[in-house]
Order: sequence, then C-alpha cells, then structure tokens
Amino acid sequence: MKNKAYIALGSNVGEKEENLAQAQKHIAMIADTKITRTSSIYQTVPWGKTDQDDFLNQVIEIETEFSPLQLLSVLLNIEINMGRQRKEKWGPRIIDLDILLYGEQTVDEPELKVPHPYLCERLFVLIPLLEINPDIVLPDGTNLKEVLIRVKARTDNKSIPNMLDLNKGSHIDTPKSGSRL
Ligand code: AMP
Repeated sequence: MKNKAYIALGSNVGEKEENLAQAQKHIAMIADTKITRTSSIYQTVPWGKTDQDDFLNQVIEIETEFSPLQLLSVLLNIEINMGRQRKEKWGPRIIDLDILLYGEQTVDEPELKVPHPYLCERLFVLIPLLEINPDIVLPDGTNLKEVLIRVKARTDNKSIPNMLDLNKGSHIDTPKSGSRL
C-alpha cells in the first residue's frame, strides 16, 4: 500500500539550489517511491546557530512503499552520499532531509520521531508544506494552517522565509499572517 509522506529539504552550503535538485533526483530513484508534489524554494535566515549562510528550504510530497524507518535510512544515506558531515547541531549543511509526516502515523523511536518534533515551530517547513497541501492536519488533529498563523504572528519579518523567484533571481514576499498562508 502506498503511503503519503512529506519530506523537508534544506541546504546552506555550495550550490544550494543544485543540492536541493540533486537530493530530489536521489529520492525519485528510491524503489517503489515517487515524488507527487514539490513546493517552491524558500530562502531562510539560519535557525539556532545564526553565524552561517542563509538556507534554501523546500518540501516535497512522496508516495512510498517504504516504512518510516526504511525511508529514514535511505534519506540518511542520500545525505552521506551528497557529502554531508555531521559536525555540529544546527551547523552548515550541504543537504538536510527530514521526514515531516508519514500518512496518519505517529512514530516514536529513538532514531525517528514523526511528526517531526520541530514541525510546528519552523516557518521554513510550515510555509512550503502548506503551499503543497493547505488542508493538512497532524495525526492528533492539529490544523497546521492555524499553527502557521500563530507562529507568523510572533515572528519578526526578517525571519519569515521568502519564496525564491528563480526566473528573476530575486525574491518575492510570502503573504503575511492573516492571509491564506
Ligand atoms: P539533524 O541532522 O539535526 O536533522 O538530525 C538528524 C537525526 O535526527 C537523524 O539521524 C535521525 O535519527 C533523527 N531524527 C529523528 N526524527 C527524525 C525525522 N522525523 N526525520 C529525520 N531525522 C529524524
């Protein structure tokens, strides 16, 4: 049975857009898995450790036959194959791949928590996730659209991710709180 899952991609080292594209190519090659939706790319100021380059973030929806733990294992391998080194928490990274949601399932294993523990705190995942599925709710019934409005209301403007306009090489503002996203 195919399961719908959402994966967050992030990069803040090297050719960031290329890194996001490469990661998607790898994900598209996972057996019995296909990418069904892809968000825009967003530029985000760093979170946690702020003395590093801006991040590019994106969320994709996949359909997969892999279990959550199998999926995690493949994603970690993709990160390693793309040259990611785990040096410091929240430090610079060529590619970061996180499982945000896996169907209606909750996973609470030492190496995997789903929904992703920071999902409801991070605009750089909430905004692209809601872009590709505006009606999404968590397994516990939490409506993410409402979460987004609350998080945006307590975030200063410069920390709100900007949608990257790839055609112009510039940025367009994301709608501010109170509007649809
Ligand atoms: P980080 O590099 O900060 O993204 O942390 C990666 C580690 O977090 C992985 O080695 C996983 O074992 C663990 N982890 C826990 N929950 C998740 C999740 N939902 N998606 C990806 N990694 C997770």
